Amino acid sequence: MFKLNRVNGVSYYTISSFEDTGLVRHGFSTREGGVSEGCYASMNLRFHCDDSRENVLENYKIIADTLGMDYKRIVLSKQTHGDVIHTATEQDAGNGVIRENAFESVDALITDKKGIPLATLYADCVPLFFLDKKKGVVALAHSGWKGTVKRIGQKTAEKMKSDYGSDPSDILAAIGPSIRECHFEVGDEVAEIFIREFGDDTAVKYGEKYHVNMQKSIIKQLTEAGIPRANIDDCGICTYCQSDFLFSHRKTNGKRGNLGAFIELV
Ligand SMILES: [Zn+2]
Repeated sequence: MFKLNRVNGVSYYTISSFEDTGLVRHGFSTREGGVSEGCYASMNLRFHCDDSRENVLENYKIIADTLGMDYKRIVLSKQTHGDVIHTATEQDAGNGVIRENAFESVDALITDKKGIPLATLYADCVPLFFLDKKKGVVALAHSGWKGTVKRIGQKTAEKMKSDYGSDPSDILAAIGPSIRECHFEVGDEVAEIFIREFGDDTAVKYGEKYHVNMQKSIIKQLTEAGIPRANIDDCGICTYCQSDFLFSHRKTNGKRGNLGAFIELV
């Protein structure tokens, strides 16, 4: 279950199954609680846009404080809709937030080190959270439609198995706020890819147009990696439906900030 929390005006989601382990600090931000204005109002976590660096950095401080993390140690991915998974270590602490992003293409982050907060950014793409509660490994994966087709979620789970010896039955996974079937209209060529890769229940016709269900496609790939369905928590929240509260790229034609997924082993 995803739980909506509100602390000092900052709204964010947490995942009950993750919280219950006591092993992590984590959360998924909303638009509420930051200092940015206009289409970035107010918790915009996207650098390199028309919002000022000063505002975005302040937003990182606010959300990190709220989640109990040190913003200076956040490791931010560099998302390109690829399938590169980076293993974060001490030397990455601060990457992309307090200093220039040194990554070229990183859509998933993984670590078994405590005190290294991982962060990935969203506005419709699918946030995936992972926690191996036995081995103490965490990961985040940014799974837009291209990443979903490249099976970045499945590859992240497979990396937990190969690099850390994770037993998939010990892995908790969660699917955060993202654009869902109700609003994810695609061209026939994209629908055909999903039907071929994940089955005909992952692209459904709404009148003339196909709508793709990324979340269902992701659940299929995570269960293929051996994660029990009962360990996968799908929040069910559509960013397009709730664009006043969550940033949606589609709804705003790209005039939007970014939401953030955060997780850190404690
Ligand atoms: Zn929707």
